[in-house]
Amino acid sequence: EPTSAEIAALLTEFPDYPKPGVVFRDLAGLYAEPGMLSRLATRVADRFAGEFDRILAIESRGFVLGAALATLTGLPLTLARKPGKLPGAVHQAEYQLEYGSDRIEVQEGAVCPGERVLCVDDVLATGGTLQAAGRLVELSDAKVAGLATIVALTGLGGRERLAGHPVLALCEVP
Ligand code: 5GP
Repeated sequence: EPTSAEIAALLTEFPDYPKPGVVFRDLAGLYAEPGMLSRLATRVADRFAGEFDRILAIESRGFVLGAALATLTGLPLTLARKPGKLPGAVHQAEYQLEYGSDRIEVQEGAVCPGERVLCVDDVLATGGTLQAAGRLVELSDAKVAGLATIVALTGLGGRERLAGHPVLALCEVP
């Protein structure tokens, strides 16, 4: 199983990206490491074993772990997408960005009532994105089994914001 230190060692920091003052953690080196994606997915699957019926992966970097988890577990995968990408009726959840807001959507009927849904993304920062994913699950009359990411950035209040749901981050970085 990949330890937090092993994951952290494969991250690359890009200061002042995408804007001045922000340090961007790039996961490219992690995905490029042979066998790593499947080991990451295994850690998430083990933590929530028997506790979820469906995976909700968040566009776009959450799709990577989400697809790996679906392959590993054989469980259904649903994609939460940016505004306007999904055909038909959708549930919508808005979340605040530093300036302005964004939205993710899921098709109505894609998540079944009563299902236990594990929401996944690559990075947890302020928690706004995963919180919105949780609202999409609730709008579908389903339950949030947990919120999982590969990396959590500490000190941005993400975990506090998501209190009330089980949160798993495989690696915490300041
Ligand atoms: P939050 O909503 O928790 O503030 O931000 C999380 C979202 O922004 C995730 O979808 C994630 O992909 C993206 N994100 C924020 N900071 C970083 C970062 O340092 N590296 C990467 N790869 N994504 C980030």
